[in-house]
Amino acid sequence: MNESDERTGLGPRSVAQTAYGHEEEEPPGKPRRHPLWRDVPESQWNDWRWQSQNAIRSVRQLRDLLPFTPDELEAIGALEGQYKLAIPPYYFSLINPDDPNDPIRLQSVTSPLEMTNESGYEMEDPLEEDKDSPVPGLTHRYADRALLVTTHVCTMYCRFCTRKRATMVRGGWDAISRNDERMVEYVRDHPEIRDVIVSGGDPLTLPVPKLKFFLDNLATIPHVDIIRIGTRVPVTLPQKLFDPSLIELLASAEKVWIQTHFNHPREITPEAARGCRNLLKAGMPINNHCVLLKGVNDSLETIRTLMRGLLRIKVRPYYLFHCDPVIGASHFRTSVWKGVEIMEGLRGHMSGLGIPNYVVDLPRGGGKVPLMPNYLVSVSDDAVVLRNYEGMLVRYQPDDKPATIQPTKTKGVSALLSGTKSVIMPEGTDHMARRRLNLNLVTDTHDENTHAESHNGCCGDTTHLEDELVPVHSGEAYPE
Ligand code: SF4
Repeated sequence: MNESDERTGLGPRSVAQTAYGHEEEEPPGKPRRHPLWRDVPESQWNDWRWQSQNAIRSVRQLRDLLPFTPDELEAIGALEGQYKLAIPPYYFSLINPDDPNDPIRLQSVTSPLEMTNESGYEMEDPLEEDKDSPVPGLTHRYADRALLVTTHVCTMYCRFCTRKRATMVRGGWDAISRNDERMVEYVRDHPEIRDVIVSGGDPLTLPVPKLKFFLDNLATIPHVDIIRIGTRVPVTLPQKLFDPSLIELLASAEKVWIQTHFNHPREITPEAARGCRNLLKAGMPINNHCVLLKGVNDSLETIRTLMRGLLRIKVRPYYLFHCDPVIGASHFRTSVWKGVEIMEGLRGHMSGLGIPNYVVDLPRGGGKVPLMPNYLVSVSDDAVVLRNYEGMLVRYQPDDKPATIQPTKTKGVSALLSGTKSVIMPEGTDHMARRRLNLNLVTDTHDENTHAESHNGCCGDTTHLEDELVPVHSGEAYPE
């Protein structure tokens, strides 16, 4: 934990660090309810209208439900006019009220830290979406994609939102406006656009006629292949997805993919699983965009549990975003090294299906840049040296051609490049232990010259034991 972490109390937390029941369970856990709503009938609890009408929307309500210091209350009271607040009872019930740094609370409850911008680096519109906007509400940055901001309303206002400038300070359900028509016309007039991201705010808060307007019109444009709906409804108000008429409307467009936003394993509840199941059953693939947030999910264990939980409910982890430098969210930002460290603990350690792309969205509209640990160790004209997740270094020849480099007496990575060695394997890895076991079996049952079969493509691991057989068999260390 660095100095600033200590000050904010937002150092890395893992799911096992807190004693709150759900975090020790594999998600989806059990349904939860704050005692305030204990007697609400199930039919109301599962009705999104009831959830919306009973959302916590003021500091006055909050102070009766969660502990605050007088200074905190004064600060968040001052912020109330600046940034909106809404937490449906369902999402509020996921908070552990005894923990001031609870990860669900941090995401949803106003914090005095929203007033800080110590470095001055945080911006209102860090991605400069408004500057790449040929018509109001539409961002056209990548040639084949367009982003449509269709509303400024959300079911819950995330304290780290990149569009805080809009979602937090403006609002209201508009009727279909001339700007909505202009966005659709722009997409129709630009045949290079194949992927339309319908975003907001949260488009699933739109009144049905307005959502239908966007879906019906976009779906009939022949060059549009994909309509992505960006929504946190599966996370913050999954009851909305219990409504068959909404599911039918989304499915009717046929091109719809869902892009949702789970950030913590505790958000994967039976209700969230049911909402996602309804979308999947109607044929809509679901991808998850997670944001790396200090104090919420900045630990390998938390992210790994989250990704596994998402796979369990058939939501594909797609992005792990570095938190944008947006005004009022600086306290959520981690180092980039934290993200790389987490990615190092995912690749090779869990199913590839559960590994998101860690990306930084560059300020000034620079777009997304993927970051990852370095697996390419060195290169020559003949070969590359690649590192695997266990630290094994392997010479790899990408194409079949005679060597151009004369083998030279050398050591280490250089020996791999020159072709005098083909692998350097650290002691004590699982891989090594398996090889030793296999080797014993092989030498027990086969001729000593037997080599493991080499496979390609989908048949399994590509394996060359030749280099390893000799030293292990003779009891020596592996080639360095
Ligand atoms: S749901 Fe999305 S748009 Fe709305 S506040 Fe959260 S991050 Fe921002």
